[in-house]
Amino acid sequence: MATKTSKDIRNESRFMVLRTVYARHTVTRAQISAETGLSPATVTTLVGELVEEGVLREAGQISSQGGRPTATFQANPSRGALLAVDVAETYVRVDLFDISLARLDQERVDLDPGAQSIETVAEHIRGCTDALLGRRPELAGHVLGAGVSLPGQVDPVRGIDVFAPNWGWHEVPLMEALERAVPVPVRIDNPLMALATGELWFGAGRRFRQFVAVNLGTGVGAGIIIDGQLLRGRGNSAGEWGHTTLIWNGRACPCGRSGCVETYIGAEGIRTTLSEIAPEHELLTVTHHRDFIERLMRAEATCDAAAQEALLRTGDYLSAAIGNLVNLLDPEHVSVLGWITRYAGTELHDRVRERIAQECLPGPSSTLSIEFTDADGEGVSLGMAVLALEGFLERVGLPSPSSALSPAAASTGPGTARTGWAVPHADASLPRR
Ligand SMILES: [Zn+2]
Repeated sequence: MATKTSKDIRNESRFMVLRTVYARHTVTRAQISAETGLSPATVTTLVGELVEEGVLREAGQISSQGGRPTATFQANPSRGALLAVDVAETYVRVDLFDISLARLDQERVDLDPGAQSIETVAEHIRGCTDALLGRRPELAGHVLGAGVSLPGQVDPVRGIDVFAPNWGWHEVPLMEALERAVPVPVRIDNPLMALATGELWFGAGRRFRQFVAVNLGTGVGAGIIIDGQLLRGRGNSAGEWGHTTLIWNGRACPCGRSGCVETYIGAEGIRTTLSEIAPEHELLTVTHHRDFIERLMRAEATCDAAAQEALLRTGDYLSAAIGNLVNLLDPEHVSVLGWITRYAGTELHDRVRERIAQECLPGPSSTLSIEFTDADGEGVSLGMAVLALEGFLERVGLPSPSSALSPAAASTGPGTARTGWAVPHADASLPRR
């Protein structure tokens, strides 16, 4: 790993300050210093820069212990707005946030099943965006950036979707169509990185520097946080834990391999497990993934033996797959997120708690904490709003790279210039207002 420069350390410190302000809403400099461990002088400088740029504002005065009034600070919602776009295989959703990351409004369109072109997707994004800004004309011209989450393996540095098997996308260029749809700087990523970024800012990231954010849904992945930073890998595909082998020569996976983790603990995998236990089970005709999981849990609660066995086996598969992550990474903590946890989190958590010690080496598991969080679709849009905010801050010379893209990857592709702002600058001395 490259040695950190003083600029890197300053950027990390800025991230810690911002995260404290955003998580606590209104804070004094002394509180930021106590929470982050940064010196009062460093906090004063960093808060000063963010106030000067208009990202933070003084919120008022409170009396301190010595009786002297001290200033409180908060994010400044009037500085501008952010767009967070969640493109999933069945819908496009656009959320409008202010810069304090309060959600102002939302638009959504459902997509027909089957393949979509980037042009169609971009048209839907434009329609939603126009509707949102039509309702808030005062924000037109004050949108500071957009974060767009797209399905599959997304490379933000090259601006392409490397692989989205359900839409037949291979190396699809994205930026031109997206930049036409939203007339502001666009930052792209995939839902896993978005969820992990949200968790880094607002969830486990506030308590742990080494943790894994597992996403359980139709797809499955693991956001890996090492030393407080999201691991992206060379081409942004780190964390494709769903496509690591759980059972050699096991179930066929849409990725073309077999025995992948996703084929056991993703929504379709849970259905396959039920079909192995009870090939004639009535729930096997429910094709919609959420409906299937919701009804499976109702069946489980009413003592349907096949449903109970399917849940138990899913818990066993999940324990083994998390055990692999724990043995590999030795994290302090594992957060299990994603829409499946909303329906089955309690049952899966119970089974994982029983089994995890058997699935891990004694060292890594001895002090490990595991939490199942009922985070539904909100997590992706919040994460993309954070990434849009980080992009804006970087463009004004105040980078706070909670999940910086790899500079090594940035230097390799011809597409670098298109999204060049996402790469940490060697000397980003942009003028500040
Ligand atoms: Zn696979």
